[in-house]
Amino acid sequence: MASIEMRNIVKKYGDGYPAVNDVSVDIADGEFMILVGPSGCGKSTLLRMIVGLEDITSGDMVIGGNRVNDKAPRERNLSMVFQNYALYPHLTVYENIAFPLRLAKASEEEVRKKVDDAATVLELHEHLQRKPANLSGGQRQRVAMGRAIVRDADAFLFDEPLSNLDAKLRGQMRTEISRLQKRLGITTVYVTHDQTEAMTLGDRVCVLRKGIVQQVASPRDLYEHPANLFVAGFIGSPPMNFLPATVNGASLETPLGTIGLDDARAEAVRGHDLVLVGVRPEHFEDAELVDEAIAPRGTTFEADVDVVEWLGDSQYAYLPYTAPEEVTAKLRDLSRELDSDQLRTQAVVSVDAASRVAEGNRTTFWLDTRRIHLFDPESGENLAR
Ligand code: ADP
Repeated sequence: MASIEMRNIVKKYGDGYPAVNDVSVDIADGEFMILVGPSGCGKSTLLRMIVGLEDITSGDMVIGGNRVNDKAPRERNLSMVFQNYALYPHLTVYENIAFPLRLAKASEEEVRKKVDDAATVLELHEHLQRKPANLSGGQRQRVAMGRAIVRDADAFLFDEPLSNLDAKLRGQMRTEISRLQKRLGITTVYVTHDQTEAMTLGDRVCVLRKGIVQQVASPRDLYEHPANLFVAGFIGSPPMNFLPATVNGASLETPLGTIGLDDARAEAVRGHDLVLVGVRPEHFEDAELVDEAIAPRGTTFEADVDVVEWLGDSQYAYLPYTAPEEVTAKLRDLSRELDSDQLRTQAVVSVDAASRVAEGNRTTFWLDTRRIHLFDPESGENLAR
C-alpha cells in the first residue's frame, strides 16, 4: 500500500487548454479519496495521470514516496478497476483472479495460496468454479477486486465504476465497495460525477471545477462548510437555495423576508451591499410544525406555494420569488455548469410529511437562521467560513 501525493500537477492537451490546473492533493496510505465534479472538470485526466496512462505536463506525482512521472503504468503497481470489470467470460472465477499471477509465471502453490486468501476476504469461495456470466453484479465487482488484491497493488483506482448500472444496483454496489475498501484498507482513488456517490463512499472528497481544486474535505465538512458557491451548489440534493440579499447592518433583506444575523455573520458581510444567502431545503420547515423550544433559533416568513411534491417521508414545496436580473443570470450560469435545472429564482423547501402545505396557498414557513451560508456574489467565496 502507498500514499499518493500530487504536487502542482498540470495537464495541457495539444491545444494548450489546462485540463488539470495546478492540483496539489495528498492522499494518505489506506485513504479512500473521491475525485468529483461535473463532466469535463478534469477528474479522469487526473486519475489517468496517477496510473500513468497520460503524460504529466508539469508537477510531481509521488507514489509511496517515489516520484513516478517517468514510470510506465506497469512499474507503478496500481490496479485500475474498470467500469465493465474486464473479466474473461471463458475463465472461471478462480482463473480470473489468478490471471495476473499466471502472467507473472507464479508457481501453482503461490497461485493457490493467493487466490485462496483473496477468496476468503471477498467471500467468493463457493463461486470459484463458476463463470462470470452466472454471477451478480456485486459478485463480479468482487472478482475484479480479487484480481487487484492478488497483485498486491499499492492502490485501487476506479473510474466511474457504477455509471452503467440501474439505481438499485448502484446503491448495493456502493455499499459493497465501501465495505471492501474498509476491510482491505487499501489506498483508493475513485472518480465520479455523482455527488451522492462522493458523499457516501469517501473518507475525503476532492471537488474539481475546470481543472482546479475547489475544496478537499470530508463529506460532512463539504456539506456544512462549503468553500464557495460552486461546492455549495454541487453537494446536496435538491441543491442549496441561493437567495439574493441586501445587507442592512446586522440584517439581510431577502425576497422571502428579513433575516437577522449573529455577530460573526454580521461581521462577515460588513462592506458588502449584496450577498447571496445559501439555505438548504432541509433547513426550512412549515412554521406550524416547529417545536416551540427551537422556533426562536430561526425566523418565519410567508410565501405563496407554487408546487408541492409529496415524497412520503417529507415533501418539497416550491416558492417562486423575483430577483434582480444580475442574480438571475448568475444562478442560470451556475445551474448550467452544475447540469442542474433546480437553481432558479424559486426556493425549494423541505417540510415534514405532516404539513398541510398546499399548492396555491399562502403559508408561513420557518427557516433555521443558524444554518445559513453567505456568499460573495462576484467571487462566489463563502464569506462566513
Ligand atoms: P472529466 O473526467 O471530469 O469529465 P476529463 O478529464 O475527461 O474530464 O477532461 C477534462 C478536459 O480535458 C475537458 O475539457 C476535455 O475536453 C479535455 N480533454 C480530455 N481528453 C482530451 C484529449 N485527449 N485531447 C484534448 N483534450 C482532452
